Amino acid sequence: MIRVTVWNEFRHEKMEPRVAAVYPEGIHGAIAAGLKEHGFAVRTATLDEPEHGLSEEVLGETDVLTWWGHIAHHEVRDEVVERVWRRVVRDGMGLIVLHSGHFSKIFTRLMGTTCTLRWREAAERERVWTVAPGHPIAEGVPAYFEIPHTEMYGEPFGIPQPDELVFISWYQGGEVFRSGCCFRRGRGRIFYFSPGHESFPIYRQPEVIRIIANAVRWANPTPVTPGKLDWDNVPPLEPLPGWHHS
Ligand code: ZN
Repeated sequence: MIRVTVWNEFRHEKMEPRVAAVYPEGIHGAIAAGLKEHGFAVRTATLDEPEHGLSEEVLGETDVLTWWGHIAHHEVRDEVVERVWRRVVRDGMGLIVLHSGHFSKIFTRLMGTTCTLRWREAAERERVWTVAPGHPIAEGVPAYFEIPHTEMYGEPFGIPQPDELVFISWYQGGEVFRSGCCFRRGRGRIFYFSPGHESFPIYRQPEVIRIIANAVRWANPTPVTPGKLDWDNVPPLEPLPGWHHS
């Protein structure tokens, strides 16, 4: 069974009654409940827990990590970011970055670019188009679906060219956005998915949860041969002049 850790900054829900009304269990609670129905072993972790809930032990037992943050990206300690980065790049832990997580320390570090975008909070309609219908993350997702009220995220999005683009969103106000993007960094697979503003119940939409669940399966790491090291000072396989074979 794939082991998922759902991470959430968990600040809006504590500070703003209108957000708590949408997500009384926290954004992490809603995502975790949705993913459990897809058959994963799910735990949650939040910013204010010791080590942000992301100890070596927790990450060591995590196949795929999902990340939601917004107003407190700067409070995420660099040593925890380093730990997550190593797990992704070296060990192949999957990472699903959601909505305003585009500005998180971990995502901007993995991308190496600004990750900037244009935005507007006008409760407008979003139409999410599946542009790679054969992709595993699009499995069971219709050609398009709509989110009745959303925050607009518009291009240009300051990311590197995605390895695979699975979804593009159109907004009522006229903009478009690359809303579902795949990246590989080292051994790890990363999926960015933009829907999920805190004041709308977007993580209760079955299509949205299905996409995150598909992304979890896609990002689940391939097992690595035990004891195999990628880096070492190695003797030649054949006799080499000048090499002193012991
Ligand atoms: Zn937002």
